[in-house]
Amino acid sequence: MKREKETLIAKTKAAGVVGAGGAGFPTHVKLNAEVETVIVNGAECEPLLAVDVQLMERKAEALAEALAQVVEALGAKNGIVALKGKHKAAADRLQKALAGMDKLRVELLGDYYPAGDEQALVYDITGNTVPEGGIPLAVGAVVLNVETLLNVGAAQRGQPVTTTYITVAGAVRQPITLSVPVGTPIAAAIDLAGGPLTGNFRVIEGGPMTGELLTQEEIEAGRAVCKKTTTGIIILPADHWLIQHYNVKLGVILQRAQSACCQCRLCTDLCPRYLLGHDIFPHLALNAVNHGHTANTSAITEAFLCSDCGVCELYACPVELSPRRVYRALKAELLRRGVRNPHRRQVEVRDTLMGRHIPVDHLITRLGLDGYDIPAPWSEIQFSPRQVIIPLKQHVGVPAEPLVEVGQRVEVGQVIAVPPPDKLGAAVHASIPGRVKEMTRTAITIVGE
Ligand code: SF4
Ligand code: SF4
Repeated sequence: MKREKETLIAKTKAAGVVGAGGAGFPTHVKLNAEVETVIVNGAECEPLLAVDVQLMERKAEALAEALAQVVEALGAKNGIVALKGKHKAAADRLQKALAGMDKLRVELLGDYYPAGDEQALVYDITGNTVPEGGIPLAVGAVVLNVETLLNVGAAQRGQPVTTTYITVAGAVRQPITLSVPVGTPIAAAIDLAGGPLTGNFRVIEGGPMTGELLTQEEIEAGRAVCKKTTTGIIILPADHWLIQHYNVKLGVILQRAQSACCQCRLCTDLCPRYLLGHDIFPHLALNAVNHGHTANTSAITEAFLCSDCGVCELYACPVELSPRRVYRALKAELLRRGVRNPHRRQVEVRDTLMGRHIPVDHLITRLGLDGYDIPAPWSEIQFSPRQVIIPLKQHVGVPAEPLVEVGQRVEVGQVIAVPPPDKLGAAVHASIPGRVKEMTRTAITIVGE
């Protein structure tokens, strides 16, 4: 491996960089690859979220510099920032920042969901289809989220990941986009947006399509915190359609599916992975489950091909059934039984792909979010919480193991936990100066001094 690449990977690893816009895959592992194309995923297609677009506009030069470093170190031929054409100011700033950089350019995408899905993005940018169950590396590409790439750039300057950029939106007084220390309680982040507009609210961490509904108890106890992977905090009234939908239990979903699924197959016809050519047929999975079939037939193991995008349950199904939740349950059961994904076929996009993109404005209306689709402007607030609870697992892999003790004083940026040697994981750093107050199997609490 050439020295430049070794250094890039080592510094990225030491800084604890993980995919900031997804599950938190350790970035140093992703960078250990031979690729032709480095794609920066600036699609940000989840409604209400506005982190990436504002980062691209405000930190275009830093992004360009980091992209040039990665392209050079990986020996790639191209570095492409992909963002939606509607974000003209960000595109202009990036064009300017990338001017004169031979291998780097901007590509504009349509305003559809899920344009930011890695496989959809790779197809849009390169024309290549990632095989079923594969990753972009299979077609010579690596995809990095905007914040992730900025963190890679900062890592080369010796700066570890201690903050995370979030949009706080929905039923709050002043939607806002800002940086907060990792481990900041979500309740404190909601206060930074002026607080909720209603006393009876619920919180989704992430975007409305793929986020996770948090429990009231976690939020009130301060245990729900902003992680390296947190991009959004969406507050909605407890009786909002989306919250009600998220609250439906799996048993009820299965009961409803038995009585209400008319096999119209809209869930399949609009499924982004089906449209990319994958053999995933959610309507057949529901039919199989409705008839009590859970053996390892193709209809069941196709659960491994589901990207969890939410299109089937939150947009496509006319009777509000949830093939995604059924697939999640099937996938968990298959993994429990030790079954691995058998679907590895090379694919070709279906002819219907282009006509079936879901416009984001239609999606916003379908989700009942029109009233909340307002700007969440950038804020330079330097928020310093009194206490942070820093999870030991904010990434794909095994939890990091603590290097500190209760009562120990720590500085911002100090390594407080690392994954065991030779295990997949990411280092964790103190995000505020202070003293270690508590350590559990899952988190380290630091109280500011
Ligand atoms: S869209 Fe809904 S009703 Fe139609 S096949 Fe899919 S789950 Fe059944
Ligand atoms: S969540 Fe639904 S629409 Fe999305 S990939 Fe899975 S089955 Fe397809």
